[in-house]
Amino acid sequence: MPSTHRATLRPAGVPFTDVEFTFGSSFPRPRERAIREGYGFEIELPAVLDLLTSVDEGVLKAGDVKDLLLRAVGAMYQGADCWRYEDDDKLAWCRRDGTCQTCDRHRDAFAKSLEAAAERWRRWMRPEQYPYAVGSSKGLHEVGCPVLRRDMPEDFSPPAADDAEALRSFAHLKDAYDPYDRPTGLMPLRYHVPFHAMTEEEARGWMEHNTGPKGGRYYRRCERCAPAP
Ligand SMILES: [Zn+2]
Ligand SMILES: [Zn+2]
Repeated sequence: MPSTHRATLRPAGVPFTDVEFTFGSSFPRPRERAIREGYGFEIELPAVLDLLTSVDEGVLKAGDVKDLLLRAVGAMYQGADCWRYEDDDKLAWCRRDGTCQTCDRHRDAFAKSLEAAAERWRRWMRPEQYPYAVGSSKGLHEVGCPVLRRDMPEDFSPPAADDAEALRSFAHLKDAYDPYDRPTGLMPLRYHVPFHAMTEEEARGWMEHNTGPKGGRYYRRCERCAPAP
């Protein structure tokens, strides 16, 4: 969606207030370049003429005008959602700028996933207190069950919550149209803890919650360890 923006340009001297820009309505091929270098932006003609008059009168240098316009582009980049128009490798852009809108969008979910994994690991380390566990396919086990031990990681070393590269991997992977068509160059995220351990009481509550009104089970009780909370 093309969008209109107003910016006040402040060169040394008189500011040009409410200069109108649009973004996204035209991308002229003969002068293709990076969006941050102005591609996809338009500016109203009267403002251009006034800027040229200032150059003519010696108030501004042509280089100042160029800097001014590029700074305005930089300031509008976020608000104009330019990100969506970038067809370059978004990861490369993200790395260059330190972060990106994709990362911003997934920041909270990333933090939550770290917290959830840390809590699962904490429970896993206290088997006396949390003797039962369930996985994503709703199979209930005792924590000592070999079926479950086979899938649990041996140690837990999550990235720091402010680790930009880890956030980048999380966010860009989540954002990939097809998760199997994984963007290349992402660091592997190895902090997933596949089972959630529970106290005896929690396990009973969970079983009740996953039992239908006529007694049908919505979960699976492992035949190997036959848990009976
Ligand atoms: Zn990013
Ligand atoms: Zn089991």
